[in-house]
Amino acid sequence: MSAWETVIGLEVHAELRTETKMFCSCPNRFGGEPNTLVCPVCLGLPGSLPVLNSKAVEHAAAVGIALHCRVQGSVFHRKNYFYPDMPKDYQISQYDRPIDADGWLELPGGKRVGIERAHLEEDTGKSTHVGGAGRINDADHSLVDFNRAGVPLLEIVSRPELHSAEEARAYVEELRAILVASGASDGRMEEGSLRVDANVSVRPAGSAVLGTRCEIKNMNSLRSLGRAVEHEAARQVRLLEGGGRVAQETRHWDEAEGRTTTMRSKEEADDYRYFPEPDLVPLDPDPQWLEVLRAGLPAMPSQRRASVAAAAGMEPGSEAVATVVRLGLDRYVEAAVAAGADAALAVRRLANEVAAEAGSVDNLTPDAWVALLRMEAGGELTTAQARTVLKDLLAAGGDPAAIAAAHGFEVLGGEALAGALDQVIAAEPEAWARYLAGEDKLQGLIIGRLKAATAGKADLAAAAGLLASRRAAGR
Ligand code: ADP
Ligand code: MG
Ligand code: ZN
Repeated sequence: MSAWETVIGLEVHAELRTETKMFCSCPNRFGGEPNTLVCPVCLGLPGSLPVLNSKAVEHAAAVGIALHCRVQGSVFHRKNYFYPDMPKDYQISQYDRPIDADGWLELPGGKRVGIERAHLEEDTGKSTHVGGAGRINDADHSLVDFNRAGVPLLEIVSRPELHSAEEARAYVEELRAILVASGASDGRMEEGSLRVDANVSVRPAGSAVLGTRCEIKNMNSLRSLGRAVEHEAARQVRLLEGGGRVAQETRHWDEAEGRTTTMRSKEEADDYRYFPEPDLVPLDPDPQWLEVLRAGLPAMPSQRRASVAAAAGMEPGSEAVATVVRLGLDRYVEAAVAAGADAALAVRRLANEVAAEAGSVDNLTPDAWVALLRMEAGGELTTAQARTVLKDLLAAGGDPAAIAAAHGFEVLGGEALAGALDQVIAAEPEAWARYLAGEDKLQGLIIGRLKAATAGKADLAAAAGLLASRRAAGR
């Protein structure tokens, strides 16, 4: 495969989070009894007129801002084609004047991926093919549910700038996080609120010319997106290496078989007979309104990664930082910073131990968290002990000092510590004399011996204090 480069461009359809549908007042709700959330408008009955949902426009503009797009004047068009679950026989969409154009998003590793456009449109209904294998080809009959017809969609089209299955998945994860953060979508792929079509081509490595692409449909998870892209790229490489050519077409991903099959050829351009929708006026966003939207947006994942990284003195592109932000654990880093605890240690513990528990922090109060970080950074707990205490805190909450004590992770201070120091001095008289005489570098050796003599239970802050007072006293 190394002689070939994979090129991927993604088209993501996001159902927008609105109370009502795109052009009527029917509820926008998933999972109702079939054909109960319908009216003359979304059933396409003659004489009905569309009325634009302003919340959908607001979501589209907010996403455009979050994706660094130009949010511009836009026009609705009718896209004409026959589909049994599309009652008007045309879909209201945006064509040459989409609401959002020319943006980008940043993957956690730092790579920027161009966004060509994002446009508003309406969803279709849903067909269920009964009998046979559930595909239209061998079904006895089909049922149509129009509940989804007219649900607001934003289609976000990337530039062909992704080059592996991992990058394609990372792009969708990042886009999903942005859609959720901006409030535009619930991002649920399993409920179909987020649907991804992948355009895949291959070209000789180093070539600047794009190869012929295929468009893959029907991937229901990030995992199947990755599998489909890998399979499709390998299929095209095999074809080209065998002297064949790739035919531009739409292909269906078969999850069970793990392969793509031809759905329809795209050799001749689709002719949708687009024309401006006569029942809707063009949109012309007011710059002041856009500023209000921009000001109302929360920090996007890339900005949060930058903040967490800066707080912890780490690289924004580091995987640990990305994990903390992906799991929404930023506030635990902020709590560490506010309390003057070790923020880099906080990021490591969150990205490892807390992430291993799926990031569920219901039982972890910021106070207990900071106290635990202090105990570990201050040497009261070894790394292994701190991990054990954290596991207990995540499982059931509580006071880290009490949990440590219950595990027998007590630290030695006071008399016991002083006794241990006397043993170390007896064993290392020369090092001790030099330390007393002012050789600071020997402190490390003495503390090391002290740790060994106490089986790692020495309270290191107390030990440092003890050493200082003994040196002041000269013995
Ligand atoms: P269509 O109108 O057929 O959907 P577009 O030009 O709008 O075609 O492109 C759709 C998607 O295909 C975009 O995400 C784009 O990045 C991607 N794309 C275009 N050409 C290629 C190619 N040769 N290889 C991979 N992806 C491509
Ligand atoms: Mg397309
Ligand atoms: Zn309706």
